[in-house]
Amino acid sequence: MLFCDKCGNLMMPKNGKLHCSCGFTQEEGKIKDKKKKIEEIAVVENNNIEVYPKMKYDCKNCNHTEAYFWTLQTRSADEPETRFFKCTKCSTVHREY
Ligand SMILES: [Zn+2]
Ligand SMILES: [Zn+2]
Repeated sequence: MLFCDKCGNLMMPKNGKLHCSCGFTQEEGKIKDKKKKIEEIAVVENNNIEVYPKMKYDCKNCNHTEAYFWTLQTRSADEPETRFFKCTKCSTVHREY
């Protein structure tokens, strides 16, 4: 599913474009490019982990309460994105769906 950049509402495809109830439209092709970028970012996660935002997260391994956070969109738009948390203390990666 695709959401409006402007207001976050669900966008409806029409004539090769995506339309939002707020009046915002987006080319479908541009969205595909964006998705590709997200996948590229996910691939380099281990080298550049410092760039990810830190979030409150209860590590199941060491009970630390802070972890780096990032998401990975699977190829199918119907599937929900996978969320990853990497403990800032013990570096254990936790996955959530
Ligand atoms: Zn909108
Ligand atoms: Zn930990």
